Amino acid sequence: MYEDLMNRATAAFQSGKTKDVAFRKRQLQALLKMYEENKEPMARALAADLRKPKQESYVCEIEFLINDLKNMLNVVDDWVKPELPKKGLVNIMDQVLVYPDPLGVVLIMGAWNYPIQLPLLPLAAAIAAGNVAIVKPSEIAVNCAKIIMEMLPKYLDNDCYHVVCGGIPETTELLKHKFDYIFYTGSGRVGKIIYEAAAKHLTPVTLELGGKSPCYVDNSVDISIAARRIMWGKFMNAGQTCVAPDYILCTKEVQEKFVNEAKIIVKEWYGDDIQRSPDFCRIINQANFQRIAKLIDGGKVALGGNTDPEDRFIEPTILVDVKGDDLVMQDEIFGPILPIINVSNAFEAIKFINSKDKPLALYIFSNRTADRDAIISNTSSGGVCVNDTIMHMAIDTVPFGGVGPSGMGGYHGKFSFDTFAHKKPCLVKKIDKLGEKLADARYPPYTDGKIKYLSFLTKNRKIPSIPYFSHVLLFGLGIASAILVQQAMPEM
Ligand code: NAD
Repeated sequence: MYEDLMNRATAAFQSGKTKDVAFRKRQLQALLKMYEENKEPMARALAADLRKPKQESYVCEIEFLINDLKNMLNVVDDWVKPELPKKGLVNIMDQVLVYPDPLGVVLIMGAWNYPIQLPLLPLAAAIAAGNVAIVKPSEIAVNCAKIIMEMLPKYLDNDCYHVVCGGIPETTELLKHKFDYIFYTGSGRVGKIIYEAAAKHLTPVTLELGGKSPCYVDNSVDISIAARRIMWGKFMNAGQTCVAPDYILCTKEVQEKFVNEAKIIVKEWYGDDIQRSPDFCRIINQANFQRIAKLIDGGKVALGGNTDPEDRFIEPTILVDVKGDDLVMQDEIFGPILPIINVSNAFEAIKFINSKDKPLALYIFSNRTADRDAIISNTSSGGVCVNDTIMHMAIDTVPFGGVGPSGMGGYHGKFSFDTFAHKKPCLVKKIDKLGEKLADARYPPYTDGKIKYLSFLTKNRKIPSIPYFSHVLLFGLGIASAILVQQAMPEM
């Protein structure tokens, strides 16, 4: 299965079409046009799958894609240029370059929670870096998969960019083929399947996974602001966000204040009847609804707790006095339930965090610098955000990704482009008599004089950043090496 598709994709890459930077830019322009012309249909598909509110669809998916693409179009000419790294003395006369080489045919697999953004954000980078790409949207967000399937071929080159729809059987077949890169977003459970399939072909991967992202809150912050920022990150997309704060760590005193604020905020945001609010998402399907609803059972509910299976509605819910071994603390919640675990200080929080898998995000709400530093330097997480949630992943000059069980690799901005490019170093030397004379100490027969000369030449030197210092140093080193060559000459 998929032999024809793979043959077509491979032939397209081998044709060299995607190496042409002008071609890549035309494709990126076409992708931009696709987004601009299909904002409303995309928002409708998101609403159909998740009842995603228009604002969340625009800000977190459609405009997010558009901004990323516009930035890429502004800078892609620079990104595709070979880099000129610093050179040591040995290569001072040579050209040293690093080419960002396309990898080949890449597979991009998205998850259902941000079903338009997740498969398409990496696609733009794959195009910019000169690859042929096959996009596999999540079959669980049916309407979004359908619209991607319909839109993409109308705008992008049909030989180079393909969409495959389908579930586990189709993906299993697809993964039997050899790709040059696999970019996967989804759960760690499936991540292992992807990694194993990729290993069979030694295919490199990015795994954008999830996990339980902790949120530490102390009494030094304004709880009403902290609560807003935490609840926004948690209840957006009904908690179905990979970097949503999964649980809170705080004292009993902070817990009480937090719950009081949360009650006010929920009313303010969603009104008296949350189920009727247009601003609150639904759980993607029954399987996920049942899984999440079960987590409320037996918990101490301080807010919310209502569910409606017919509507796949789960009210924003806060559970208090939760223990580390409770059901809700076993796996990533990925739904609108916020458990609070009591710790007495930052050090207990560190201990708790380190007893779990390394999370994708770590949130700290504190104005105590020493505590913040202690948490940051004594824990490991994909990223950290202090006094806010989610916002760190919107900065396109920093990599976004996990560590350990929360993922491998990072993307966004230039990091996305680098993900889909092989950094190919290239040394270009002249064939000249002087260069040959200076370098011929490397040839046998070996002597002590040659060792002395080569040690001097290859020694790693720290060059201070004083203007023209390096020129002066090089001049001095040039004279010194000439003397050493002279001295080594009789033995050479
Ligand atoms: P999902 O079910 O949509 O699966 C993701 C992809 O894997 C889909 O394309 C799907 O078709 C494919 N897939 C599913 N089962 C498979 C199998 N057995 N074999 C081969 N392919 C298979 O999404 P999900 O896994 O439920 O996603 C939710 C998880 O994703 C959460 O853990 C969340 O934290 C994580 N996530 C991470 C990020 C991130 O950027 N790090 C973003 C979104 C979601």
